[in-house]
Amino acid sequence: MALVTTTEMFKKAYDGGYAVGAFNVNNMEIVQGITEAAGELNSPVILQVSKGARKYANHTYLVKLVEAAVEENPDIPMALHLDHGDSFETCKSCIDGGFTSVMIDCSSMPFEDNVRITKQVVDYAHDHGVVVEAELGTLAGVEDEVSVEHGSESYTHPDEVEEFVTRTGCDSLAIAIGTSHGAYKFKASQCTRNEEGILVPPPLRFDVLEECIKRIPGFPIVLHGSSSVPQEFVKIVNQYGGNMPDAIGIPEAELRHAAELAVCKINIDSDIRLAMTATIRQYMAEHPDHFDPRQYLKPARQAVKDMVAHKLQNVLGSAGKA
Ligand SMILES: [Zn+2]
Repeated sequence: MALVTTTEMFKKAYDGGYAVGAFNVNNMEIVQGITEAAGELNSPVILQVSKGARKYANHTYLVKLVEAAVEENPDIPMALHLDHGDSFETCKSCIDGGFTSVMIDCSSMPFEDNVRITKQVVDYAHDHGVVVEAELGTLAGVEDEVSVEHGSESYTHPDEVEEFVTRTGCDSLAIAIGTSHGAYKFKASQCTRNEEGILVPPPLRFDVLEECIKRIPGFPIVLHGSSSVPQEFVKIVNQYGGNMPDAIGIPEAELRHAAELAVCKINIDSDIRLAMTATIRQYMAEHPDHFDPRQYLKPARQAVKDMVAHKLQNVLGSAGKA
């Protein structure tokens, strides 16, 4: 199977009450960890590339790594997606360069500008057999080159979604219901603390999601910023010389619930970073004499694979759905 678009994936996910995981890729070990998990669990998967990833690893290297993963896992539906395209030009270069899906993110612009640029990307993408994700509402947090201060985020207005989807012709819509980019998703003042002193985030706004679903029934919805920042990994990082105080994410049970509704794509990046970094920190501390990068990248790749396998089975519900 060659790379596919997300059209069929999302249709099956919507009807089946699960979501497809969109995992960010930046190097070979991450691509291998994600796709080996998807292959073993027979799950569809979206590999997504941010502007920062293209800057770090180079567009061609990333596309070739993903092509290798497709060849190694011929029975797994895989899409290659641009995460947070910031202009028509960025989207066009990915459409021309082998991606099967792009996101145009003009969510911080006025509504009419968002409609106009999204429509321009949709027209070009659809002419080339590529699908488009757009966004309404803004998430707090930091992800590569996307940065919104806490307090400046805004939930999606459900009364805008139908007009936006109709006028732009986009294929899926990212909405803001309280998820957030990065490993520090909430300020302590937004949260409560449990008995162990760990922050408990405010719940997602399922009322906003339900309202959006009513306006655009059957239409695939996307959640960004949906890492859960598992505390066992934060603990390992901090135990082995790191310093990540009050890193928290979105509870997995809330994501599972969203996946049962109209949410067809859930973006997970920070959890992969966290799993790799925790594993490498621990390995370095326990093997101070090792200096071959393969020695610590091998368990790091395994940690990515284990993390993704857990998400596919227990959070997204996409295992066995390839
Ligand atoms: Zn995002």
